[in-house]
Amino acid sequence: MLTTIDSLRPRPTEGIAGSADQGLQPLAARADGLVGSVIDSSTSLLAAQTHDIVRFAMGAPAPEVIPVDIFKQLATEAHDEGSFTYGATEGEPGLIEALVDVSADTDEPTRAERVVITSGGMQGLDLAFKLYVDPGDLVVVESPTYTNGSGTALAYGADLLEVPCDDDGMDVDQLERLVREAGRTPKAIYTIPNFQNPSGVTLSEERRVRLVELAHRWGSVIVDDDPYGLLRFEGERVRGFAEISPDDPLIFSVRTFSKILAPGLRVGWVDADPRLRQLLINAKQAMDTCTNVPNQHVVEGFIRSGGLQAHLEGLRKEYLTRKDAMQESIARHLGDRVRTTDPQGGFFLWVTLQGEDAAVSTQRLFEIALAEGVAFIPGPALSPSGRFDDAFRLCFASTTPERTDVGIERLARALDRARAEG
Ligand code: PMP
Repeated sequence: MLTTIDSLRPRPTEGIAGSADQGLQPLAARADGLVGSVIDSSTSLLAAQTHDIVRFAMGAPAPEVIPVDIFKQLATEAHDEGSFTYGATEGEPGLIEALVDVSADTDEPTRAERVVITSGGMQGLDLAFKLYVDPGDLVVVESPTYTNGSGTALAYGADLLEVPCDDDGMDVDQLERLVREAGRTPKAIYTIPNFQNPSGVTLSEERRVRLVELAHRWGSVIVDDDPYGLLRFEGERVRGFAEISPDDPLIFSVRTFSKILAPGLRVGWVDADPRLRQLLINAKQAMDTCTNVPNQHVVEGFIRSGGLQAHLEGLRKEYLTRKDAMQESIARHLGDRVRTTDPQGGFFLWVTLQGEDAAVSTQRLFEIALAEGVAFIPGPALSPSGRFDDAFRLCFASTTPERTDVGIERLARALDRARAEG
């Protein structure tokens, strides 16, 4: 059974590509760039465990808030024979229309010509990097980052430049300095501006403006990956890239219903310059022909039922309660052994070990914690170069306050054991 963080660490083709004795020699050189995802692998690892585990690892919505009964009803009503044949690659016209209509009441109104429905946010990222990144191109990523995103850029041969984040998101001064030192400009800047995965921090408006300026100076595309923006539960709203620079061809926005409805639907969309639309369609045709049609109809039905706003309000309330509960449990059981970020929305807290605990490797801590019955994502899995061995990501969204308290207590016990190992 897989039980260690080592079994989570993606080691894709090491010992495979170029290894004649394994009979896989004809693999493309590209296969070496397929680094996999520690985050996604944690799902299988946890599924294989037989003991009780409090799961702070996956960034999944709370099972209790997924409107399963409405989905079932919609599936009965919204599905007809047209739901089970091939759909248009760009997406079901009804869903695109519903999306555009609902966007009219938000701060990011869009138009049908800008939208292509995707199979989740991951496909949006794949499309972005496929269109913009050649092997050897420089791609800026936040540090820490959502390594599924940076891994997608790697799959297209990117050289990654990690730029540190602080409480205001990516440090744009350091970005400028690091790019100067790199001696070449980036093709793409990958950012998660709101309640970032994994740190929970939000990119300040001032930095967003500067990022757009830098992108224009360098001719870089901003890959604006924002699955959590609609889940702000406190604090002041920050203008999005599309508001700061409307119709900007250098802004490629990746969106998904995974966090606001349900990740198993695998329905997302990209919002990009209309001149890219045909290219996006061509690229998607070489991937999956079209996004799952029945699920697009369910999402469309949900939006058309008028329930989305009330649903979002319910989520915001619930996730604020859960974040507060996790912070209280951390204060109670871990005190000043750790410091955490204070997200104003989204799913994640970033926890950094302090004082003498800072010497503990969170990769080792993960193994002990798993045995104690609690799971998280260790920091090095959230940095392409494996930084942050003294930090980890906790998802507060999936777990009730009562279970969260049990999990944090187990975590404190695991930290004691890791400390005792020396
Ligand atoms: N980007 C970020 C920042 C995410 O957190 C996620 C989901 N964890 C995705 C993209 C991918 O979303 P999806 O599940 O819709 O593919």
